Amino acid sequence: MPNRKYTPYSKAVYQEASPNLKTENPFEEMMGRFNIAAELLNLEEGIYNFLKVPAYQIIVSVPIQMDSGEIRVFEGYRVIHDVTLGPSKGGIRFAPDVTLDEVKALAAWMTWKCAILGLPFGGAKGAVKCDPTKLNPKELEKITRSYTARLIDIFGPERDIPAPDMNTNEQIMAWIMDTYSNHVNYTETAVVTGKPVILGGSLGRLEATGRGVMIVTMRALNNLHISPYGAKVIVQGFGNVGSVTAKLLEEQGCKIVGISDITGGYYNPDGINIPDAIEYIKKNKVLSGMPNAENLTNEELITQHCDVLVPAAKEDQITAENASKLNCRLIVEGANGPTTADADPILNDRNIMVVPDILANAGGVTVSYFEWVQDRQGFFWSLDRVNNNLKQAMENAFDKVFDTAAKFKQSLRIGAYVYAIEKVSGTLKLRGLYP
Ligand code: GLU
Repeated sequence: MPNRKYTPYSKAVYQEASPNLKTENPFEEMMGRFNIAAELLNLEEGIYNFLKVPAYQIIVSVPIQMDSGEIRVFEGYRVIHDVTLGPSKGGIRFAPDVTLDEVKALAAWMTWKCAILGLPFGGAKGAVKCDPTKLNPKELEKITRSYTARLIDIFGPERDIPAPDMNTNEQIMAWIMDTYSNHVNYTETAVVTGKPVILGGSLGRLEATGRGVMIVTMRALNNLHISPYGAKVIVQGFGNVGSVTAKLLEEQGCKIVGISDITGGYYNPDGINIPDAIEYIKKNKVLSGMPNAENLTNEELITQHCDVLVPAAKEDQITAENASKLNCRLIVEGANGPTTADADPILNDRNIMVVPDILANAGGVTVSYFEWVQDRQGFFWSLDRVNNNLKQAMENAFDKVFDTAAKFKQSLRIGAYVYAIEKVSGTLKLRGLYP
């Protein structure tokens, strides 16, 4: 067994272990939590080693001809972490600073997410190292099609099913579907999810991640005996996840006192009108200049007093440096990996409940699963059916994670890892090893 020192209950040991959790490497951050859960489960060494290493780590070159005529070659990745539960599932992100290690961590998180939600999928993630703000739509289309063509034998409705992630959207999913369909010579909608509804997408998919965040927030507030009516919420990030979460929590009676985007934080202790903010960002592209809110830095915003903090922007926002300054009772992780592993024990000690990313933001992949089911059946659901099924799935998953955490006397994060690893390792034992 690797050197994993964590013993349940012992804060001293947790602290001793935490310096090892401090790392700039997202895959190691994921492994920090995985190790604690593996220890609690007494996971056999063979299974530990099996789950530690992604099944596939694919690097492809993505050559395109730019509008200027120049040929440029981008780097693309697809990491399939595990396929024990079924075909692998996970989004594709476009970002200039993306690394293979980041994609590896994100792929593993997809394995755990799908396991927690009871979806028949393994976990994967893909990326292209590019700056979408510097590419025009034609170039973006070429990158998408070139990347898809490189991975044509990897993708497939029974093999590996991509979806949107950071800086990718419905249009990009439509190009993936079209490229794949042209290669196989028939229209295959189930090869990718998060498509436009007219192309076999699902109603409710666009809002699904934010809706899932809202559903688990309500569950957690109930658990903490905090009424949602007037509960103060700060949402970091105002993209698809953050803006939908803010809108839906406001509809539940919460008071959204802070929101943010790349231009900074916007704070009003009397509440920000979210439909107005959504209108504002639609018109102006950014929140900068938004009326009726004080302009703070992102860092200042997340330390303001609130009941619920929803980090819905990017990785590594809540760290060992700022965890002791947070002024909230509940954190619900809309983003993937917003909390560094070394911040976990600080939040635990401060009794701040954290609904972890692999549970909190799993609404997106859950409705992706519904989309895949609908595509394969050729029968499409009403929005009510999608939303009701999502609510049921998220609430069940929350309760299972909560019970596991209580059983092991651990945080919800470790409860979530334990539940997921137990499920995947149990399935792996039943399937056995081939050959
Ligand atoms: N990219 C989303 C996530 O991180 C959705 C993945 C999917 O729908 O497959 O969960």
